[in-house]
Amino acid sequence: MKMYDVTGTIYEGMAVYKDKPEKQPKINPRTNGYVTETRLEMDVHTGTHIDAPLHMIVDGETFESIPLDKLVGKCKVLDLTATEKGISKADLERFELEKDDFVLFKTKNSFDENFNFDFIFLAEDGADYLSQVGIRGVGIDALGIERSQEGHPTHKTLFAHDIIIIEGLALKEVQQGEYFMVAAPLKLTGTDASPARVLLFDELNF
Ligand SMILES: [Zn+2]
Repeated sequence: MKMYDVTGTIYEGMAVYKDKPEKQPKINPRTNGYVTETRLEMDVHTGTHIDAPLHMIVDGETFESIPLDKLVGKCKVLDLTATEKGISKADLERFELEKDDFVLFKTKNSFDENFNFDFIFLAEDGADYLSQVGIRGVGIDALGIERSQEGHPTHKTLFAHDIIIIEGLALKEVQQGEYFMVAAPLKLTGTDASPARVLLFDELNF
């Protein structure tokens, strides 16, 4: 059985959304005698993470509303590395997606070393299509699932259909196919997102 760690590494100087300095994590080790304790300060949207509805909806549901059993199970990695700009309905229709699928988009983003302001995202009509299919969740290899869409329709459509959103995946080493996914976020409560460790296994049944 092969395991793929599709999580981004968290460190000072890592790629953060729009290269905003205030989004950089702060990692402060303090040593007293022989005891070291590090204080970590960071945005809940740092690196690989899972969004909760509160992120884009006033009074939306907070992180603990996402049950762990929705984050563990089969997923489909879709190769969309040929897609430029926004992933549309037309890009997605050629895959045989089914209700309750959890899909992960491998795009050109996985090959970017730094934050790319022109990152590939899920376009509104792509989000509409996934909602009609009735998927369980979607993950992307960008720090955002959308960009340059007034009013954030992609996030809102997905949240309205109870579709989990994972952002910041690292899928460079992973080929298109079916995997068993374990997406394990921190057990946060009351927040609009949580960082997560995401693992894919090439064996589907445990
Ligand atoms: Zn986010």
